[in-house]
Amino acid sequence: MASRLQIEYAIARGRTLDWMVENLGATAKQIDDTVRYLDRLNAEKDCQIRPRSRVPRKPHGTSAAYRRHMRRGETPCDECRVGNALARAKYRKKAA
Ligand SMILES: [Zn+2]
Repeated sequence: MASRLQIEYAIARGRTLDWMVENLGATAKQIDDTVRYLDRLNAEKDCQIRPRSRVPRKPHGTSAAYRRHMRRGETPCDECRVGNALARAKYRKKAA
């Protein structure tokens, strides 16, 4: 009798149904249940994890945040204007 984990591994490795029946002693129903379970898991993940939210935004007062304001067509906030000016001054000093 195969465990769900064994079947999950086999699916992840692209094993065929026949292979799982033969080598794991899995039943077609077990495999079917596992496939459904994985599908559901993936569907839930898709709507919960949005790639954009995984990367933390740079806080205001950095040149990245300044450019974000500009990209959005916003007037940069004071913090970002100062932060960007400081970053540019630093860069100019380094270049000189
Ligand atoms: Zn800002």
